[in-house]
Amino acid sequence: MTETLPAAGGPSLPQERRVITAIPGPKSADLLARRTDACARGLGTTLPVFVEKAGGGVLVDVDGNSFIDLGAGIAVVNVGNSADHVVHGVQEQVAAFTHTCFMVTPYAGYVEVCEALNRLTPGDHAKKSALFNSGAEAVENAVKIARSYTKRDAVVVFEHGYHGRTNLTMAMTAKNMPYKNGFGPFAGEVHRMPLAYPFRWPTGPANAGPEALAAVISKIDKEIGADNVAAIVIEPIAGEGGFIVPAEGFLPGLADYARANGIVLVADEVQTGFARTGAMFACEHEGVVPDLITTAKGIAGGLPLAGVTGRAEIMDAPHVGGLGGTYGGNPVACAAALGAIRTIEEQDLVGAARAIGDRMLPALRDMAARHPVIGDVRGRGAMVAVELVQPGTLEPDPAATAAVAAFCHQEGVLVLTAGTYGNVLRFLPPLVMPAHLLDEALAVLDKAFASVPTSR
Ligand SMILES: *Cc1c(COP(=O)(O)O)cnc(C)c1O
Repeated sequence: MTETLPAAGGPSLPQERRVITAIPGPKSADLLARRTDACARGLGTTLPVFVEKAGGGVLVDVDGNSFIDLGAGIAVVNVGNSADHVVHGVQEQVAAFTHTCFMVTPYAGYVEVCEALNRLTPGDHAKKSALFNSGAEAVENAVKIARSYTKRDAVVVFEHGYHGRTNLTMAMTAKNMPYKNGFGPFAGEVHRMPLAYPFRWPTGPANAGPEALAAVISKIDKEIGADNVAAIVIEPIAGEGGFIVPAEGFLPGLADYARANGIVLVADEVQTGFARTGAMFACEHEGVVPDLITTAKGIAGGLPLAGVTGRAEIMDAPHVGGLGGTYGGNPVACAAALGAIRTIEEQDLVGAARAIGDRMLPALRDMAARHPVIGDVRGRGAMVAVELVQPGTLEPDPAATAAVAAFCHQEGVLVLTAGTYGNVLRFLPPLVMPAHLLDEALAVLDKAFASVPTSR
């Protein structure tokens, strides 16, 4: 059952699931005790094992356990851990120089990443980009740029949205616990609108698109005034909110409304970007061309980097010196991004993401037919989720969700949870995941669903 990776897929770790100790094992347990003493309590832990090596579809811990990775560091290592082009690019750059600050003395890598973003993002209009350190910072800068361009204040966001943990992006994020509770006051002029959430739309999934769009337009017109709105910021698939694919027509309708009213449409593709959904960017599935697009997570194979890309005249609105930051577009992170982008293109990871979805979605729908705790199966490409409910109802079942995740973790499969109601299991495998490991992970998941009581 062991299979090593093809040449460009990272270190040649055996591609196998292997549980040889209790989870966590003794070495992880020791480190966990030190972590508790040394690191702030506010930093959560999904699976308390300490990683020693990772590559392809596995994470190997300090006790020698090998986990099938269905998280990819939260949609970051789309190209796998330590992908060859990322490692080589970083090694060369780190030996040449590590930092100058792009605003002090520029370097080619930054420009090359911007050129790649301008080429790869949707739309054939003239584009420009700027680079930052994190997804939250990219979202903040997209809002700054949109406000500077429109000379308006208001920002429209959506229920179930997640945009980061800084002050403005907390205001833009929907969910209180754990992201916002006790951390206010939050930035003003942020207005939350209904999202076309098919599974939970009161009059049924078929009505979600048109009814949600009408509600959003009416609320903007009545409560804010379209002329006061600088930006509509939306994730093309809501990530932390539970992998909610908005009903068909909702995103194109918002794009039309934004265009008609001089509002900058910002697609937050921090989680959905870089081949994750079976397209380079998730907006492409409905042919939506955003004015600005924010990227991070999958951009650089795990090194911290983020970008804002968009229409040249919007990107050029802020005055000289109005954008930037000490580390944004760090040369080592840029080298990693160029390596990650090359890997995505050379290995057709867009196609690989589609193949992962084609394997996972039918298998999960088959499980849903046998396990009534599964209320909904959804996603695109390698961004797939199941929503757990009290059987036959829409009542969320976060306890069953936690139990299924815990079962998988004990059995050597890393899964993540999500969702406004804490009742979504989400799957984000690295796009280089070997097929036999994906099938094995699905088999473990099936056993996990069979093992949990369906209501408390
Ligand atoms: C993760 C995420 C962010 C925040 O990115 P950080 O790098 O953690 O700051 C913003 N938007 C979306 C959609 C995300 O998934």
